[in-house]
Amino acid sequence: MTLIQSVTGPVETSKLGLTLIHEHMRVRSESVFLQFPHLYDEEKEFVKAVQQVNNVKKLGVNTICDPTVMELGRDIRFIERVSRETGVQIIAATGIYSYHYIPPHFQNRDIDYMAELFVRDIEVGIQNTSIKAGFLKCATDAQGVTPDVEKVIRAVARAHKKTGVPIMTHSHPGTGTGINQLDILIEEGVDPSRILIGHTGDTDNMEYILQVIEYGCFIGMDRYGLTGECATENRNTTVIELAKKGYADRMFLSQDHCCTIDWYPEEAPGLMYPKWTMSFVLEEIIPELRNNGVTEEQIKLMMVDNARHWFEGSNQTKSSANVEIGGVEFGNSK
Ligand SMILES: [Zn+2]
Repeated sequence: MTLIQSVTGPVETSKLGLTLIHEHMRVRSESVFLQFPHLYDEEKEFVKAVQQVNNVKKLGVNTICDPTVMELGRDIRFIERVSRETGVQIIAATGIYSYHYIPPHFQNRDIDYMAELFVRDIEVGIQNTSIKAGFLKCATDAQGVTPDVEKVIRAVARAHKKTGVPIMTHSHPGTGTGINQLDILIEEGVDPSRILIGHTGDTDNMEYILQVIEYGCFIGMDRYGLTGECATENRNTTVIELAKKGYADRMFLSQDHCCTIDWYPEEAPGLMYPKWTMSFVLEEIIPELRNNGVTEEQIKLMMVDNARHWFEGSNQTKSSANVEIGGVEFGNSK
């Protein structure tokens, strides 16, 4: 039995059930919120998050991993409140989300200092609460591995080595940064089976994707609905082809949905990406994958069992209890 930490307490990995691996209850530019709080409406944000989570709860979702960390406006009490209101388990993260620079506080201190703070979030609690982080997060975008970004990746690796919680990244396939992340994490001694290279589905370059998978990590096909980097049809074609090649045990399907995001004017995301909701994968993508030969067993891997394997770091022999995904019940596979 392996216990991991949700925002409402410990959870057995066998009880994760249907899981969305990458969704945000709320994303804020944290310095703007701190200086201009009048721009924000906490209650409205709460209602939006509860609405999205309740929608996927009705579709059978039992667990959501929310990788909102420092520089994305992480507020652990907000996430906890959404979880308590909806009854859906939410696993929170620690780490730093930065494409280029980190604050001087960290620039002038070493990697282990940063790693210790991540360990504290995992073992003691986040933001002076006793709510613990269940996984680690770092980011590398088009700017590549800047000195500050490298510091975060190494600190995440060291916190993982101390605590055993898995690592999720934000990568930018267009510039191949998933490979850079893997090389640094592995150099720090991380087992690739504990790494999830997020946003790998933002490309349909199969050569790149296979190169990432060959490391033995998981990949996030986790931005369904965001059509800027890659169209939905292309995302589907890639997932179908990878499933045929036998890689359903490496993929996660999710949306990277942000119930609220202050990066853009309020109405912009909905206008640009009308399908970008927390329920898009379950309502439209999984039926489409089924129609194209992806089996129920493969869907169960992507939506249920892979999360367990990523958290446990176990060999892929265990299967979770029966769950229903879009009206079809999945039995235990061997
Ligand atoms: Zn995200």
